[in-house]
Amino acid sequence: METIIFDVDDTLYDQLQPFRNAVHQQLNASYSKKQVESLYLTSRKYSDNVFEKHMNGEITALELQTYRITQACKDFGLNLSYQEAVAFQEAYLREQNQISLFSEIEVLLNHLSSNHYQLAVLTNGEVDHQMMKVDQLGITKWIPKENIFVSAGVGHSKPSHKVFEHLEEKLKLSKDNTIYIGDSFENDIVGAKQVGWKAIWMNHRSREKPDSNYQADYIIQNPNDLLPIFHVMEEA
Ligand SMILES: [Mg+2]
Repeated sequence: METIIFDVDDTLYDQLQPFRNAVHQQLNASYSKKQVESLYLTSRKYSDNVFEKHMNGEITALELQTYRITQACKDFGLNLSYQEAVAFQEAYLREQNQISLFSEIEVLLNHLSSNHYQLAVLTNGEVDHQMMKVDQLGITKWIPKENIFVSAGVGHSKPSHKVFEHLEEKLKLSKDNTIYIGDSFENDIVGAKQVGWKAIWMNHRSREKPDSNYQADYIIQNPNDLLPIFHVMEEA
């Protein structure tokens, strides 16, 4: 059986939307789309830098969250107090409670579940926080809860091969018939390809491909381009 496994953040929904709303409420109401996107990418970079420290218990979630926005703002000439960073995080969290699926993903999930693919989710982060998003997105309408894997619950995070192998065992995957879909080249594409799965890079932020020995099987620029890939594969 073919298995399709999804990343969550910025793959199933637009992670920029809650961030954009929080920026406009808390930091600068006049930032353009481009400026918000650039601030967001900078904050993700700082977030990735300390993610392992957080997973090892060296820093708390709030320390990671306030660090990444404070450092990103600094790069933009904006000095945040600790209180302002906390207020931003609280606004971001409130906005994350309002997220919804990309409409194209909803269409894709309908297609895949009516065509009897096995579906699953693999996401990095804390169990409660990621499950809050899974619930808000309504993913369990298509994907059973036991097929939803959060790195903190597994004990390893992407791109470690261990978390991908954990899913192979739990879902009885055959590598050739497993496709992972994600937006992060380093975590999602390298992670899936190193264990021999197929991978679709959802590069809707038009990031440059990092230097890597691994290649995605498909690269798309828009969630709209996902369903046609499956139509082509199904006709082959
Ligand atoms: Mg992601």
